[in-house]
Amino acid sequence: MSLSACRVCESANVRLHSSFEQVPIHMWPLARPDGASHPHRQEPIDLYACLACGHTQLQEMSESLVAELYGEGFPYEDDRALKLNRLGKITGVLGDGFFRGKKVLDVGGGNNPFTGLIPDSERWIADIDESARKLVGVSADHAVIGDFGRADLPKHYFDVVTGFHVMEHFRWPLEAVRKMSEVVAPGGRVIIEVPHFSRVIEEKPWYGVFHQHQSMFTESSLSRLFSEGGFEIEKWIRNDEVLLAVYRKSEAKPAAIAPVNGMAILDRFRDRLRGLESQLKNSAFYRSSDRLGIYGAGGTTMLILAHFPFLRERVKRAFDRETQKQGKFIPGSAISVAAPEELGRATDLQGMVFVSENLRQAMGPSFPGESINLASMLDAASDQPNFATV
Ligand SMILES: [Zn+2]
Repeated sequence: MSLSACRVCESANVRLHSSFEQVPIHMWPLARPDGASHPHRQEPIDLYACLACGHTQLQEMSESLVAELYGEGFPYEDDRALKLNRLGKITGVLGDGFFRGKKVLDVGGGNNPFTGLIPDSERWIADIDESARKLVGVSADHAVIGDFGRADLPKHYFDVVTGFHVMEHFRWPLEAVRKMSEVVAPGGRVIIEVPHFSRVIEEKPWYGVFHQHQSMFTESSLSRLFSEGGFEIEKWIRNDEVLLAVYRKSEAKPAAIAPVNGMAILDRFRDRLRGLESQLKNSAFYRSSDRLGIYGAGGTTMLILAHFPFLRERVKRAFDRETQKQGKFIPGSAISVAAPEELGRATDLQGMVFVSENLRQAMGPSFPGESINLASMLDAASDQPNFATV
């Protein structure tokens, strides 16, 4: 499908930059291998840039496809340490006790909403998933289920609306922002966290695009989105691999946000992937190893193998410590997932691919063959930014 209008500024002046023909729609291992009798669902990814505001985004997808993205094989964030760290960063800026006594609405928090961390607030959650109802009395006082844009919520009521890693998932984020604008009290705040596309391109380009993230935000496009709903930036709490921002409902018309060159951002994304591909193909490791393993069996591994089919042909097994992934198969492949304890016995494999130096240091020694860290090849690729040519 194409894209009829920009998700941020609604301009129809959007342009197709490039496409990936087929990418598995599931992130985590599936119960059966990909094959004729049980094909894994794969769909194209079309990358668009808005020529008016610069927002980088995917094609429109049908509601039924989007629903399928969140079935089997979707990883929900469930890391309490990470959530506490985020809360600490927010209260570090807005003050200890910031949430005390406030009316707080968490949008799309799923089974582990942010409100679970702020017991002395009036805690509301809004989620598409029916199971969020069970959280009332546990980590929330009220739950509103259904599409957020049409949710039945009190108007001009909330002191704070939070949305952590949800804006990039919305089919129409502007509808969500307008709803936030409607439910937040005068002078109220919205606290938002999204992946920062510009940084992801530099640090882990393989994780830059996938079907679940219909928008890839930068500082500019996130602020433009919120300015459309009458919000102005109050504070950037984080501006690294994520953007964590506090927006405030302003009485006056928000200041204009300068557009960025979305086509150039997507050029850089393509060049980073191509640079890594060249580094890998030209490495002694790759040239000497026909049978490989890969460490990790989450979205990172799925995407690396989807972007680099030449690597997928050589990878025979993945290894992951999470027992719910073991015995299953990387989406889009017949590559099975084994426990890390199997590394020492994997004598049929000549080489092992890691995506971080920490993991390679920790697990590499258990493997009898050679290993590489893909992220270090990315560092080498960045020394030659013009390496990839069209
Ligand atoms: Zn736009």
